[in-house]
Parts: sequence; structure tokens; C-alpha cells
Amino acid sequence: MKIRDILAEKKPTISFEIFPPNARMSLGKVMAAAARMAILEPDFMSVTYGAAGGTRADTVKIAGSLKELLGIPTIAHLTCVATEKEQVKRIALEMKEAGIENVLALRGDIQEGIEYPSPDYYTHANELVTELKKLGDFCIGGACYPEGHVEAVSKEKDLEYLKLKVDSGCDFLTTQMFFDNNAFRDFMEKLRSIGITVPVLAGIMPVTRATQITRIDNLSGASVPPELMRLVEHYGDNAESMMKAGIAFATEQILDLVASGVDGIHIYTMNKPGVAIRLIENLRGLI
Ligand code: FAD
Repeated sequence: MKIRDILAEKKPTISFEIFPPNARMSLGKVMAAAARMAILEPDFMSVTYGAAGGTRADTVKIAGSLKELLGIPTIAHLTCVATEKEQVKRIALEMKEAGIENVLALRGDIQEGIEYPSPDYYTHANELVTELKKLGDFCIGGACYPEGHVEAVSKEKDLEYLKLKVDSGCDFLTTQMFFDNNAFRDFMEKLRSIGITVPVLAGIMPVTRATQITRIDNLSGASVPPELMRLVEHYGDNAESMMKAGIAFATEQILDLVASGVDGIHIYTMNKPGVAIRLIENLRGLI
């Protein structure tokens, strides 16, 4: 099922993001975690893709299996910054043959040692969106950044390029994780004012370990409000307490977004079914 059709019928949607196997988590463990989350009946699940393309086979396999075995609509992520254009096209066609209907079109982070920009590679995600439109009837999602992308010259320019990406053929957008709902609401107002009308899913990451905060800060530039920082400082040394406090913070954040009329909530599960289960239990009857 295409995600654009789900979004046309339901508001807000709830979706989960999982990542493919890595050195610490085997394919079997990823699938087992995904199956436990599927029981919660999310509207769809997304499967990430390594920036350098190394997870390609697993991303396609997991997205295909979740859909076929568990009946959950899926979206496969696809990055283009470190893979030559012709190869990206082949991968998209491979996804189409595997029955994948939904693709999150991403540039990916610029890897050390690659020539960027280069004529053999797509420079920005809008070019990948244009290519995907030519290759098949995919439902296409794009990424967006309520507090601005880390490389953006300015927030205004970032929005201008986001409009170009959506006009190239995005059916919906998913935000990077954020913790400050006011920043999201402000972003939504600006985005709508420049004529971006597609649904925007709010990316929520429950902070369940104190160390996540430093990583988030380094990797994404998402600001951490004082109330979340206080929780981390107070509960961070106790794993169980930090988990509970992080889930409580995410629950409140989601309820406030739902009350503000958000199109959907996309939960960065970090492959932890326990976190997804507790969060959904908290939301039961409220969304
Ligand atoms: P773009 O839309 O190309 O934007 C990147 C930068 O270029 C921005 O600063 C923008 O303002 C600027 N820009 C955009 N278009 C133009 C243009 N035409 N001309 C000039 N400047 C332009 N990474 C992964 O490796 N794998 C994943 O699975 C993955 N999943 C993600 C899911 C979500 C929901 C999000 C928010 C991010 C994800 N990322 C993933 C991270 C993403 O790849 C990085 O944030 C990357 O740096 C930017 O990707 P993008 O698609 O937003 O790029």
C-alpha cells in the first residue's frame, strides 16, 4: 500500500523506523525486533539505508519481508551521495521488482574521501526524487529539518530547496528528530506559507540513554530544551529511570503535537521494541 493513500485516510498516523543489521545486531535480531513492533499495528514502518550503500540488500529484504510476512506497509530509504547515478537507478529498479512501493529519497551525509559534487553522482535529494518519478510509480518521501539542515546556508535557503524537492515529486516529508515542539510549529508555519502542502510526519526519538544526547547534538544539531536536559542530568545514571523518563518526555511531546494537529508521528525506535511498546501503551486511547 502506498503511504500517500494511508496519509489521505488517516491523521495522525503512527510509524516506526528501524535500521538494518550492523556489527551489534544480526539480521535475525532485527527481524525479531521488527516483528514485535509490528504487533503494535503501526500504519507503516521504515527501514534505513547506509549512506555508503552497504545495507542495500538488507534494507530491501527487511522492507519486503515486513510487508509480505507481517502485512505492514513499508518504506525503504535510499541514499545517493556515495553511489553512482547508474547504480542508484539499478537499485531503485531492484526495489520496484521486490514490490517496494514507497521510497524515502535521501542524499545521505557526505562521506569522507568522496568527491562531492561529482557529475557521476546526484548532488541533492531533489535530483533523486526526479529520477525516481521517471523509474516507476513510487510513493516518494523526503527528509526535512525543523531547525535547519546542518549544512544549510540559512533557514530560508533550506526551505527554498525543500520546496524544490517537494515540487520534484515528494508525496510527504518526515522530519529529523526534534525535541522542541515550538520549533516544529514555527517550521510548519513557514513551510505552509511558501506553499508546501504535503503531509509532514514529526520524527520523535525517545531519549532512553544519557549518551544519546551528546550524539544527537553532534550528528544532527537538534536543540535539547532545558526540561529534557534536566531529566538527563537527574536520571541519566540509572538506566531504568532514564528509560522511563525519556519515554515520559516523548509521550508528552507526542500528545502536544497531536493536539496541535500533526499529520503523523514517526518514531525513531532504535530497534528497541520495548521502547515502542511502552510508548504506544501510554498513547492508547489518546490518539
Ligand atoms: P538534501 O535535500 O539534498 O539537502 C541537503 C543540504 O543541501 C541541505 O542543507 C539543503 O538546504 C541543501 N540543498 C538541497 N537541495 C539543494 C539544491 N538543489 N541546491 C543547493 N543546495 C541544496 N541518512 C542515511 O544515510 N540513511 C538513512 O536511511 C537516512 N534516513 C533519514 C531519514 C530522515 C527522516 C531524515 C531527516 C534523515 C535521514 N538521513 C539518512 C540523513 C540524511 O541523509 C542527511 O541529513 C543528509 O545530510 C541530507 O539528506 P537530504 O536528503 O535531506 O538532502
